[in-house]
Amino acid sequence: MCGIVGYVGRKPVLDILLDGLEQLEYRGYDSSGIAVKCSDEIKVYKAEGKLSNLREELAPHAYELAKSTIGIGHIRWATHGAPTVINAHPHTCNCGRLVIVHNGIIENFKEIKKELEAKGCVFKSQTDTEAVAHLIADIYGQVKDLTKAVRLATDKIQGAYALCIMHNDEKDKLVVTKRNAPLVIGIGEGEFYVASDVPAIIKHTKRAIYLTDNQIATLTPDTIKLENEKGDEINPKVEILP
Ligand code: GLU
Repeated sequence: MCGIVGYVGRKPVLDILLDGLEQLEYRGYDSSGIAVKCSDEIKVYKAEGKLSNLREELAPHAYELAKSTIGIGHIRWATHGAPTVINAHPHTCNCGRLVIVHNGIIENFKEIKKELEAKGCVFKSQTDTEAVAHLIADIYGQVKDLTKAVRLATDKIQGAYALCIMHNDEKDKLVVTKRNAPLVIGIGEGEFYVASDVPAIIKHTKRAIYLTDNQIATLTPDTIKLENEKGDEINPKVEILP
């Protein structure tokens, strides 16, 4: 099953991501990873095995990452590729400016991978997920709008997914979407939380939006824009968590 988390706001992101992942451990996992934006650069950290291994990996970087207020995280249950550091999420595009975490299975990733390799994309992992990272980045290169790139990319992919995406050229922005996999957005004051399940966000907020299939949300610290698959803006339905 695995789990994803995300945060955009004004608080230090590191502990929010790690604590959120800890709350999702019950879903089962074999490796973990996070990506955070730090001084205009996206940094990715991954580890095999327990979340405590990722915490150890991150410990020497705690000071330099302390100012980061946006990031995404993942605990992986390997479906495509062994549970190694290379296959752990987040995955990146060629240039590393786009990062993605994914829960689920992309059924047509081989076709997408073939097309993208022909265009010069170099794959580093054996995962289905990496195809989505390159696909969104490829489209982003043409449309220069992350939400639009995600919409056009998800039109092409088949399978099940919850996705949380961050791009270095899109300041303070997360884009999230899902199809046949759970995803909830927690609403705070000047901040948003993203998670596969409520335990990862309940400590922070009781106000939440459950994404429905094919909706895409664009989150910045102070705004949420929710769209259907056609790109029409819709009003988010806010629920109060018990
Ligand atoms: N299919 C992806 C992979 O194997 C995601 C698995 C998951 O949901 O953890 O990396």
